[in-house]
Formats: sequence, C-alpha cells, structure tokens
Amino acid sequence: MNNIGGMVLQMLKNEISEVDYKRYIKQLQYDEEESKSNLAIFHAPNPLIANWIQTKYSNKISHLFEIKTGVKPTVTVCVKKGNLSSNTPNIPVATPVQGEKLPHTLLNPSYTFQNFVVGGSNNFAYVASKSVSEKPGIVYNPLFIYGGVGLGKTHLMQAVGNVMAAQGKVVIYTSVEQFLNDFSRHLSNRTMDRFKDKYRKCDLLLIDDIQFLSGKNQIQEEFFHTFEALRNENKQIIITSDKHPKKIAGLEERLKSRFEWGLVADIQPPELETKIEIIKKKCEINRVKLDKEVINYVATIIENNTREIEGILSKLNAYSQLMGVDINIQFARNVLKEQIAEKRSNITIDTIMEIVSKELNVKASEIRSKSRNSNIVYARRIAIYLSRNLTPNSMPQLAQYFGMKDHTAVSHTMKKIQELMKNDEDFKIKVDELSNKVSTLTTD
Ligand code: ADP
Ligand code: MG
Repeated sequence: MNNIGGMVLQMLKNEISEVDYKRYIKQLQYDEEESKSNLAIFHAPNPLIANWIQTKYSNKISHLFEIKTGVKPTVTVCVKKGNLSSNTPNIPVATPVQGEKLPHTLLNPSYTFQNFVVGGSNNFAYVASKSVSEKPGIVYNPLFIYGGVGLGKTHLMQAVGNVMAAQGKVVIYTSVEQFLNDFSRHLSNRTMDRFKDKYRKCDLLLIDDIQFLSGKNQIQEEFFHTFEALRNENKQIIITSDKHPKKIAGLEERLKSRFEWGLVADIQPPELETKIEIIKKKCEINRVKLDKEVINYVATIIENNTREIEGILSKLNAYSQLMGVDINIQFARNVLKEQIAEKRSNITIDTIMEIVSKELNVKASEIRSKSRNSNIVYARRIAIYLSRNLTPNSMPQLAQYFGMKDHTAVSHTMKKIQELMKNDEDFKIKVDELSNKVSTLTTD
C-alpha cells in the first residue's frame, strides 16, 4: 500500500487499538481511481464493516489526510464492487454507505425489488414501482411515493433505477439540493445547455424528498420545465416526499397538480410481521446470524423507522466480533440497553393510557376504575404492563396511579401478563404492537 490512502491507514494504525485495526481497518482498500483531493473513497468487504468504520473513524481518517496533503476530504467507506448479495444486479457503481455530503447521483445496488420486503403497509407502492420498472414512461408517470422517514421510499425508487440501469438506460438519482446546486453552477458558468441536456435527456429521473422544493421559487420553475420536457418524451419520473403533493406547502399549484397526474402511492409504517421479515432480510444481506428470539426482540424495540435496523445489526455484530461471542438474547439486551433507555426516558403513563384507551376503545377513567368487565380488565393489564416496561415508574408508583392496593398487586398483574403472552400469540402481538405505537409517538 504505497498510495496516499494506504499511507493514511498506516498512520491510523498507530492511533487506534490493534483489534480495530486488524478486524476492520486492515480490510479497507483505497480507491485511487475514484478518489479526488476532496473526496477519499475506501472499499470495505461488506456493509457492516463499511458502516462501522464510517461511523467510528471517518473523521479521524479525514484529519490524517489533512495532515498529509493539506486538504481535508470527505471520507466515504463503500462496499466493494461485486461483493454484495448474490441476487443483486451488478451495477458498475460504488455505493456510498453514509456519504452525507456526497452528491446523490449513485444508486445503491442493494436497493432492489428482491431485497424489498412486501407487506400490507407498502404493498401498493411496491406494486406501482414494479409496474413502472416493467413499463417505464407508460403506466404511471409520474409515480409519486410518499410516507414517513425510513419506510423504504428511497429503496423503492432506486429499485426501479437499478432495473433500468441494468438495461443500459440512463438513470439520474438526485435530491432537490443537488438539482439546485447543479442548476446554480451551470447558471454561473453559463453552461445551461449542459444542465438541460443532462436532466432532459435521461430515461429515468428520480427526485428524492421533493418536499424540499417548498418555497424555492426559482428552482420550482426550472423543475417544472424539466418535468414537462421529460413527460412529453414519455420519459419516466419518480418522486418521493414525506407528504401527499396537496400537503406540501409553498409548492406551485401547477406542480402539485402535475404530481397527481400519474399515480400517488403511500407507504405506511410496517406491521410487526413486516418488521420481522425486514430484519431477516437485512441479516441475510449483511450475513449476520440472529436467532428467532433476538429477531423478535429487535423488531419490538425499533421504531417504525426501518433505518434503525442496520445500525442495530452493525452494533450487535461489531460487539460480538470484538468479544468473540455469539449473539443471543441476553447479549442483545445488554448491547442495546442504552439505546432503549434513551428512548424510554420521555414516555409517560399518560401517553400510554391515551394510546391504549384509543386503540382498545376503553376510556382512561375505566382503565383506572375497579371494573371487572373483561374488555376493561384486558386494557388495564396492557396499560400496566407497558407502563412498567416503558416508563421509569416503580411498582408502588404504578399501584398508586392505577388505584391498586399495593406493589404486590402490580407484580401479580405483571406475572399474569407474562403468562398470557407466553400462551397466547395474538395477545403477545397486540401488546408488542401497542408497545411500538407508544415508542414511536414519544420519540418523534
Ligand atoms: P425512506 O427513503 O422512506 O426514508 P429508505 O428507503 O431510506 O427510507 O429505507 C431505510 C432503510 O430501511 C433502508 O436500508 C431500506 O433498505 C430499509 N427498508 C425499508 N423498508 C424496507 C422493506 N420493506 N424491505 C427491506 N428493506 C426496507
Ligand atoms: Mg429517503
């Protein structure tokens, strides 16, 4: 390794633990061809190692480059080409795992239809995207996908991109920011022809997170013309957003109406079963082995934001490699303890009561009453169980809140619920689901 990247890694070796160096850093390869003075690209053998190094060492690496060359580059750790899961088409691009400041022009080759788990929450958007990939420019143009953070919008739009790129079509993936930067640059360089050529001559234009067009009038104008040009030529456009076009404030009416010309598809938060399947899929892609118990556990602690999964897997994997032990449920609980504690600090019994009462259709006052009505008892048990598990309240505090005799009554209820959860799968799923709802609402 006598290139600059190799030298920097040698310098890094002296500053970090031997274990980290041997297990992770040593596996990095500097990409001399793709790197520039302000951008250092390294390849790692798999996404977990890439993620781990990116998070832990990219700042340090960037700093070492600065010492050597005087320029502080953005450091991007990517998965090595041809090293992704077998059902991934071989797209000749590198994949930034966390290139925050990188232009969003590259497709992530693991964002494929095969790697996308379909469930009730995303079925509609999936089928729509699949049809578009089969008949681009014909079925739904534009395809507009909207939904909350981490629900798979970018994954789906890039899945279409990957299909078309594999067929040799010209695909552009961009963000509003990137589009705007490009526009400004060409405007000041007086090269608008090239800008127009680029965006109006592609076969597929993917614009991610269009809500950021809001209030930016000049670029809305430009985007309108790009949109018209592409659509007139039957070139496919896919747009994502965090909300329905109608709900994007500060967006020209003519754009809003055009966004609805094709098909508007939403993605909802995944059900527990879908979450479990997504975790299994991510384990498969990243070659992480987790047993059923751990998978179920991870599914119940993640919020609806699926993005969390990869972070959790890489954390579990990294710890287990460092410690040289297998990932069992005890280990997973330990490693993820802090993560959960952080989330729980802002959950209150009142929020839990609100959610349980709404979801199970039982009044909060009834839950706190002494009624023996079976629906009410059911709701009360769940509320107590969630309060005990999700808030820092002690048993005596819970006894007081729920009007019970003392803490032994609470402890008795907890035992009863654990027993029910063991024997009644539907009940367990309901409890997990509510637990998820509470965690999501309180962490937003
Ligand atoms: P969004 O763009 O909606 O914020 P992303 O597409 O970036 O969400 O998805 C976040 C992460 O979750 C990605 O790693 C993606 O692969 C994964 N993901 C989300 N939904 C699914 C799904 N249904 N199947 C497989 N992976 C998913
Ligand atoms: Mg996205």
